Amino acid sequence: MPTPPAPRPWVPAPLAAALQARAEHYQALSPDELEAALAAALSAHERFMDRECLSLYAGTNIMNPRAARWLASTVGSRPSLGYPGDKYETGLAHAEQLEIMAVELIRELFHCRYVEFRVGSGSLANLYAFMATTRPGDRILAFPAAAAGHVTHHREGAAGLYGLEVHPVPFDAARLAVDLSALREQAWALKPRLIVVAGSLCLFPYDVGAVRAIADEVGAYVLYDAAHMSGLIAGGRFQQPLAEGAHLMTTSTYKSFGGPPAGLVLTDDPGLAQRLDLIAYPGLTANFDLGKTAALIVAALDLKEYGPAYAAACIANAQALAEALAARGVPVHGAAGRGFTASHHVALPAYRWGGGTRASRQLEPANLLASGIGLPLPEIARDFNAVRLGTQEITRWGLTPAEMPAVAELMARVLVRGEAPKQVRPDVVALRRGFQTLHYVRA
Ligand SMILES: *Cc1c(COP(=O)(O)O)cnc(C)c1O
Repeated sequence: MPTPPAPRPWVPAPLAAALQARAEHYQALSPDELEAALAAALSAHERFMDRECLSLYAGTNIMNPRAARWLASTVGSRPSLGYPGDKYETGLAHAEQLEIMAVELIRELFHCRYVEFRVGSGSLANLYAFMATTRPGDRILAFPAAAAGHVTHHREGAAGLYGLEVHPVPFDAARLAVDLSALREQAWALKPRLIVVAGSLCLFPYDVGAVRAIADEVGAYVLYDAAHMSGLIAGGRFQQPLAEGAHLMTTSTYKSFGGPPAGLVLTDDPGLAQRLDLIAYPGLTANFDLGKTAALIVAALDLKEYGPAYAAACIANAQALAEALAARGVPVHGAAGRGFTASHHVALPAYRWGGGTRASRQLEPANLLASGIGLPLPEIARDFNAVRLGTQEITRWGLTPAEMPAVAELMARVLVRGEAPKQVRPDVVALRRGFQTLHYVRA
């Protein structure tokens, strides 16, 4: 008999009831029925997400099929503790080669001296960076949610859970830039140990060099969170945070990078590299999943060969999409004198739709995927006040600026003209049918 549900008073009651109904459905299935349901859910998911959607959700990508294959390799359940050549386990002479290959490729892509790749996710990469630079109780400065700062930089996330006191990096809403003179004041007043730059929406590069100069005045480290940007950075088409002065760069590897779900921490500083090495092992990992490392190598090889072309195509698509949306009456956010975007991201103020999450849910039945995000606007919506779009996945599916008017038209039919999303859906599927092979991945 399944265990009866334990009360979860922190989950909203209607959601808790709906979850319970689904739980009871699966509790009643036999093992064979459950495995059939698993297979059915995954194949329906793959058809929807990988074949019939236009995914403009910025925090995702489609993996090279060979990366996906190696991700499922049996090597993933073989732990590999310690340095290659000096492992706790025996039998790893072949597998440990992957660790060396991955480090060398990633160092080459990001022009950096040290790479910590034994990191479960971008969120954990940020925790590693906090642990390497701060002690619990220290102050840090990070982008606020209104400037798309990530929850891991905040009180509710890794920073707060580790015991850091978080204060906002002052942000210039009009220029979508760090307000440097206010940051300097804030830094002198609060004496932070760390300043975190960037978040989950980066329409334009940030002045990392100026932030570093301020950090140096007060003895703080600078961390650039490249979770969304690392594919473009590897392609050399966005800023180079380490060369510009960041002590550390963290990233997720499944967003614009296009690899498996993992994290990386990069630095040129040997002292930080030593701390990160010990945080990874023996600190926070035992088995870090060498299957992910294998997939990461394939993704890194794709970027080595196609990174510049891929990054340029992502940006060209985002700029074309922003223009085409604006031409159809969709509000597009930009910065004074800087245009709509210099990256693969596009942001749409969403007050008129009741927020970015609500607008995204309106688009979903049309097979158009997007998400909510925070913009520094005066309007506060019920949820996020903007919609965030990213072109990294549609670029890999081969869409070009020539297709962006058609993509914008499909979105405008739902968002501006109020057409029923289900009515738009067949046209989204029809457009998507023409783009079923991956570009910018090695054959
Ligand atoms: C997505 C994201 C993360 C977290 O990455 P995961 O790999 O999903 O844990 C961290 N920072 C920023 C800015 C992000 O957008």
